Amino acid sequence: MDILTHTITGVAIGTVMASFTNKGFEKKLLIIIAGGFGACLPDIDAISLWSGFDATLGRLFALNHSGKEIYSAKFWYSHHAFFHSIFAGILIALVIIAMAYLIKIKFRNLRYTELKSYQKKHNLLLFSFVLGFILHLLQDMPTPCSTWGGVNFFWPLNSYIGGTGHIWWWNNYDIFLIVLAITIINTIMLSISNFKKHILTKITLGIFFIGFTLCIKQINTRGYKFNYTNSTSSYQEHELKSKEIQKQILGESLFNIMLTFDNKLKIYF
Ligand SMILES: [Zn+2]
Repeated sequence: MDILTHTITGVAIGTVMASFTNKGFEKKLLIIIAGGFGACLPDIDAISLWSGFDATLGRLFALNHSGKEIYSAKFWYSHHAFFHSIFAGILIALVIIAMAYLIKIKFRNLRYTELKSYQKKHNLLLFSFVLGFILHLLQDMPTPCSTWGGVNFFWPLNSYIGGTGHIWWWNNYDIFLIVLAITIINTIMLSISNFKKHILTKITLGIFFIGFTLCIKQINTRGYKFNYTNSTSSYQEHELKSKEIQKQILGESLFNIMLTFDNKLKIYF
C-alpha cells in the first residue's frame, strides 16, 4: 500500500493512544507523531531501489547483488522481509527509547533501573510507534503476492503472510479517506477538553474500530483479484481496474478530486 495511507493510519492510531494520557498538547502531539513515524518506517527497506544504492550502501556492505535484485529477493534486508516484521517494530522502538535515554544522561552513569523507568514513562509513545508499525504490516498483507508472497510478519521465521491481492498496490483512495476521517474525528475529540479521560479513550477507540471494520469491508468487496506472482503482463490492466473500482465506490466527483490530488503527488498514491 502507498506510504501516505500507511502514515495517516499511524497518525490515526496515534490519536487513540494520545487519548490515554492526561498530559498536555505537546505530549499528545508526540504520541501522534510516533504513530505516524512507526507506520511509515517499514518501507525503509525499499531503499535498495534508490539509484545511488549500489554505489553507496551496496559497496559499504560489500553486497553481491544489485539494489534492484535485493528489493525483489528474500534476503533479510529485502523489501517485505525483516523490516516488515513485528520483531523489527519492537526492536526499533526499544533502540529509539534507549538512545533517547542515553542522550538525556549524556552517555554517563548508565543505570538499567533508570532506563527501565524512563521506558515506562514513555510507554504510550512506544505503543503508538509499534502499533503504527504493525498496522503498516497488516495493510500490506492484502496487496499482491509478487515475488515475496506477503510480509515476513514473524521474522526470523521464514514464512510470509498475506499477498492475497485483494487490493492493488495503490489507488486505495477509499481506505485513505476512511483513515483520514478517523484521524480528523479523533483529533476533534482530543481537542474537546471537557471529556473525562476514560470516556475519551472509549470514544477514540470506538471511532478507530468502526473505521478499521469499514476498511476490512472495503478490502474484501473489491470484486476483483489483483493477485500475481513474480511479475505480470496484466500490470496496466490491474492499475486501470483499481482506478475504475475507486470511481464506482466514490462516485465521479469525489473520485476526480482524489485523482487530481494523486496526480499532484510525486509518490505512488
Ligand atoms: Zn510496506
